[in-house]
Amino acid sequence: MQSASGAENRSRRLVQHECFLGDESTYSEGSSANRWKQSMKIKDILSNKRFTLSFEVFPPKRDGNLEALFDTISVLIKFKPDFISVTYGAGGSNKDLALEIGSRVKNQLQQEVLAHLTCVGATASDIAEILSAFRKEHIENILALRGDPPAGTEKFKRTEGGFAYASELVAFINSEGSFSIGAAGYPQGHIEAMSLEADIINLKRKVDAGTDFLITQFFFDNDDFYKFLDKTAQAKITIPIIPGIIPILNYKQIKRMAQLNGHELPVRLNKYMESIAEHPAEVEKYGIDYATRQAQELLNYGVRGIHFYCMNRSAPVQQILSNLSLPR
Ligand SMILES: Cc1cc2nc3c(=O)[nH]c(=O)nc-3n(C[C@H](O)[C@H](O)[C@H](O)COP(=O)(O)OP(=O)(O)OC[C@H]3O[C@@H](n4cnc5c(N)ncnc54)[C@H](O)[C@@H]3O)c2cc1C
Repeated sequence: MQSASGAENRSRRLVQHECFLGDESTYSEGSSANRWKQSMKIKDILSNKRFTLSFEVFPPKRDGNLEALFDTISVLIKFKPDFISVTYGAGGSNKDLALEIGSRVKNQLQQEVLAHLTCVGATASDIAEILSAFRKEHIENILALRGDPPAGTEKFKRTEGGFAYASELVAFINSEGSFSIGAAGYPQGHIEAMSLEADIINLKRKVDAGTDFLITQFFFDNDDFYKFLDKTAQAKITIPIIPGIIPILNYKQIKRMAQLNGHELPVRLNKYMESIAEHPAEVEKYGIDYATRQAQELLNYGVRGIHFYCMNRSAPVQQILSNLSLPR
């Protein structure tokens, strides 16, 4: 992690991105308390509040772990997140479970939900059906993703009658109306893109198709995020960009995830993690400490929100949040 660039760059970014501090007076506990009644879309939450907190969870692989996930969520919601995002398995393999989780979070726990949705293995009419199921459950926010190539295949292949890129999915969801739409951003560039610049040109297509906000892939060097903000601003992308933070709780797992995204951990972090890799408790302690410092630096910088990849655990995020001064 490195410090931010100069003050001039900083204020330029602050002006160019809506994701930065609005008028503080627009945020009040009152508006937060009324949120459920209003059932706000994320784009409205982002335009009304100066800072958003969000958590990402995934449908557990084993049935028995569902209640454990809800134990986690019940702890996480004590931190009053603005929304909880629920991932969507490759090819919609877990789409019923993802819907069930989203519905319980929205309708029983009365929390806004961001339901992830991918193009993998789906035709436009499959997508329309899923959107209708989300709508029935009062889920109004969708994170529109292309999805990764299914296991065993190297390249993503558009399903006949489906979509080739997230931008096409965004346009389709937009045409269905009534949803606030988020999409993924990659501070270090998407693995398939020729360069970060090329990826940002494609990102702009996704934004122009009707994306309301972006959530980033995790990163470990805040400078990557600041540079990404500069480049997106140059590309005239002005929608809110929420940085995604993941605490390293299992070094090998995160290293593998970063490599699948085409990246390595920063050299110093990697070297230190290698030195403690055989001591899981130390890895977790350092991972939490690192994520805390990373998040605090982003907060000092003035980001409008932080999205935590929780890995379906509450304690690490609880520790991180208890050490942060959130602008709420
Ligand atoms: C916050 C977040 C949440 C995620 N959640 C999930 C999830 O729940 N389930 C899941 O399976 N995956 C998830 N992913 C992973 C995601 O599906 C993969 O990273 C996938 O490989 C790309 O999806 P995308 O929506 O970014 O694709 P796109 O935006 O379509 O981009 C994919 C690639 O195509 C290029 N591209 C885009 N448009 C064009 C064009 N018009 N012409 C040429 N090239 C183009 C881009 O530069 C990029 O390299 C998530 C990722 C993030 C960051």
